[in-house]
Amino acid sequence: MNCNITDKAQELLDFDVKHIMHPYTSPTKPIPCYLVESASGVYLNMSDGRRLIDGMSSWWAVIHGYNNIYMNEAITTQLNKMSHVMFGGITHEPAVKLAKRLIQMTPKGLDHVFYSDSGSVAVEVALKMALQYWYSVEQPKKCKFATVRSGYHGDTWHPMSVCDPVTGMHHIFNQTLSAQFFVPKPTTKFDGIWNESDLDAVCDLFTNHHKEIAAFIIEPIVQGAGGMRFYHPNYLSGLRKLCKEYHILLIVDEIATGFGRTGKMFACEWSQITPDIMCVGKALTSGYITFAATLTSHKVAQVISNGYPGVFMHGPTFMGNPLACSAANASLDLIEKYNILDKISKIEAQLKIELNSLNSLNGVKEVRVLGAIGVVEVEEEVNLEVLQKMFVDRGIWIRPFGKLIYMMPPYVITSEQLHQLTSQFCKTVQDYLV
Ligand SMILES: *Cc1c(COP(=O)(O)O)cnc(C)c1O
Repeated sequence: MNCNITDKAQELLDFDVKHIMHPYTSPTKPIPCYLVESASGVYLNMSDGRRLIDGMSSWWAVIHGYNNIYMNEAITTQLNKMSHVMFGGITHEPAVKLAKRLIQMTPKGLDHVFYSDSGSVAVEVALKMALQYWYSVEQPKKCKFATVRSGYHGDTWHPMSVCDPVTGMHHIFNQTLSAQFFVPKPTTKFDGIWNESDLDAVCDLFTNHHKEIAAFIIEPIVQGAGGMRFYHPNYLSGLRKLCKEYHILLIVDEIATGFGRTGKMFACEWSQITPDIMCVGKALTSGYITFAATLTSHKVAQVISNGYPGVFMHGPTFMGNPLACSAANASLDLIEKYNILDKISKIEAQLKIELNSLNSLNGVKEVRVLGAIGVVEVEEEVNLEVLQKMFVDRGIWIRPFGKLIYMMPPYVITSEQLHQLTSQFCKTVQDYLV
């Protein structure tokens, strides 16, 4: 295996492989892990002395790079004041400051903020808000959710029920998972010619079942872990109209797309819509600490307040954690300070040019780029273990899944580093496919 690995590193890896479970991995026969010792900027420093350029931003999150001095200082300052305090009956400046900024920067009309610990919980909270809304107006039969195929909304129970039934493996959990309404995935591509009939299935569903549906939940513009697909902005604006018409709340899950990733600060802006409820997470703290938020309109908040029991029934122990709020505030400072959207449009232009050569490769189905996201969809499911090692051997960190080999680098990546990343990426994919 790795020739430069120390005894200590080997010991850690040996224990890990025997006892620690990793995401979507066999508990007893896992694909080997790589040991990272530290990280800085866009680099992951491996225990064997190698340095990898990170193409994943640790799953959409680390937008300002690792070990960012400004982020570190903000958190350290907060750490020396208080790292945590309960949120029941208590508030603090980092939470207030962050809520102000989130309300100001998200689509107009989202005026109430609920903090939670992770993306999946933010989605749980959104779904509960929708249910409590209809309960409060004495329409408790509106208690199901509708969504599109190929979606992903997290791994806890209710978010899982609105993930794609096939990639989410609903058959395993069938007996106890709530059955939801699914419509086909949007077909018109982001930059394709808009086809009105894309929304026919939604129209039919709403006509027949609107009395049972509390909310429609969707990832705006980019379907992430359910297929890395980019759909047409008119789909989302049409959906917004239909939801209004049929009295169904619209929940937009911006957990992957929020904070610039698609080229707009929030992907909703491509369609110029305001959802009734919106979830943010992942890049919220630039990957420093787990944190998420659910925002909603004054109307939804008011209805829940006026109903029974008049309070919103959720309250995580670590709600509004001051360290996390401070990390989020520092991340937003950096977003404001550096012209992030301009940087992302440069990354997009470079990805479009530098990934293009893969388009003509045998075995490649499609290459697509939007904002700081580059996706290569191949014809056949990849061998993760083999391909992962090939990427590492070429000095880059890429984590493919299924038929998708993709990158979403930290925004701080320089054009030289990005060139290094894309060229090693293209060479590896070529080598792998021949
Ligand atoms: C990652 C993700 C989630 C779940 O967030 P966790 O922090 O992993 O719980 C939900 N929705 C979308 C769109 C995501 O990308």
